[in-house]
Amino acid sequence: MLKPNNPYVRNANLIGGDWVAADNGATIAVDNPATGETIGHVPQSGRAETIRAVEAAKAAFPAFSKTTANQRAAWLRAMHAYMLDNQQALAEILTMEMGKPLAEAKGEIAIGAAYLLWFAEEARRVYGEVVPSPWGDRRILTTLEPVGVVAAITPWNFPSSMLARKIGPAIAAGCTSVIKPASQTPYSGLAWGMIAEAAGLPKGVMNIVTGKASEIGEVLCTHPDVAKVTFTGSTEVGIKLMQMAAGTVKKVSMELGGNAPFLVFDSADIDRAVAGAMAAKYRNSGQTCVCANRFLVQAGVYDEFCAKLAAASDALKVGNGLDDGVQQGPLIDAKAAAATETFVADAVSKGGRVLAGGKRHALGGSFFEPTVIADATPDMRFAREEIFGPVSPVFKFETEEQALAMANDTEYGLACYFYTRDLGQTIRVMEGLKYGIVGVNEGIVTTPEAPFGGIKQSGLGSEGGSQGIKEYLSVKYICIGGLGL
Ligand code: ADP
Repeated sequence: MLKPNNPYVRNANLIGGDWVAADNGATIAVDNPATGETIGHVPQSGRAETIRAVEAAKAAFPAFSKTTANQRAAWLRAMHAYMLDNQQALAEILTMEMGKPLAEAKGEIAIGAAYLLWFAEEARRVYGEVVPSPWGDRRILTTLEPVGVVAAITPWNFPSSMLARKIGPAIAAGCTSVIKPASQTPYSGLAWGMIAEAAGLPKGVMNIVTGKASEIGEVLCTHPDVAKVTFTGSTEVGIKLMQMAAGTVKKVSMELGGNAPFLVFDSADIDRAVAGAMAAKYRNSGQTCVCANRFLVQAGVYDEFCAKLAAASDALKVGNGLDDGVQQGPLIDAKAAAATETFVADAVSKGGRVLAGGKRHALGGSFFEPTVIADATPDMRFAREEIFGPVSPVFKFETEEQALAMANDTEYGLACYFYTRDLGQTIRVMEGLKYGIVGVNEGIVTTPEAPFGGIKQSGLGSEGGSQGIKEYLSVKYICIGGLGL
């Protein structure tokens, strides 16, 4: 149970600098997926509170947008320092509401902080241009200006760092924001309010509302004073939000679902591929949008890869993320465990061979065994659908051409991975994969310095990299005449 006086826990929403309850006092219970215990209650805000949050962000925008990049970088650096100074406590809250092992939660806090530092640096490099003019008596300039009020809607799987990728560039660019964290993991979202306060960020620059997703989402996507919606979550919800945002022509960034293929060629270093597979699959219990969803393995190394992946999966220590040495926590909730079960049952009914795991874990609740299924075929559901659980289906292919066709046979285009030691193959496959993120002989590639984002139905826009801040800026073209030149 989180202690009621835990200084890192906020049970209220942050609107215009005030920590407030829902107007009608309604709350949502937050459960620890490892124990099933309710760890606290946060406001169940709705339309009225969200409108006030937008108004507060709007009111804070004129002054905030005029602060210097140096000043905004200083706030971001202070937030970064605060996060690292309080990494353990922030990670414990994250593990308690979300389930991931504490080591992963600490990693998430660290990478979130790293995004802030990156955007603190980027803030100071938002350059406009002086453009060669086609007119002798006029001059042309372009400037980059903050878009305005940003609405950020985030999922439960990375409840802290998904916000860092949105808040970091928003602050760096001079935007104010309204944040809606996922209802399963509101505490890591509300903690951002405390981080902002500790850094001295002006009131109203960051506002946080928790509550009913559809009500809050509707206000955020239709309110005329919101300039941009940035969302991480499912493609299904992303499409709804884009449709709503279209009514007032908002700028949108969407980080949506994936169906990541993980290709292993005959020429690969198999032990390296297995190590990469373990990280790309089981991190966060398989609940990431860049998780390997389909292992595609060439015939010559298929049996070896399957055997080694199954042995490594069996060896994973499953348990409460707060316990020492635990490598895989529970799934987010019972619904997620039940959904994972259906993928296994579907595969087995179509001839899939379970080499490791295959069922709910003996710990009960939403714990699920790390699972490997060989002889996967295209008619099995996980060939098309995102599993979001610790299940590794292994498909067999014969040729590189066949592998590329299988890898690209999806409406998604977020992350993909491949393992080879053949240089020509590296280039051919790298160029042939229709994805926004490609890991070559690496299973985890996310870093603030690089753009993270998908193509096709996996989304629009990039988070991080030199591209990340541009999503929060609009271009102004200025033509100066009457200069008497
Ligand atoms: P996940 O499977 O990761 O929960 P979702 O897309 O369902 O993915 O949810 C991601 C975020 O979007 C969460 O914060 C959730 O509360 C929010 N959300 C879900 N449905 C809606 C909706 N209709 N409008 C606005 N936000 C929504």
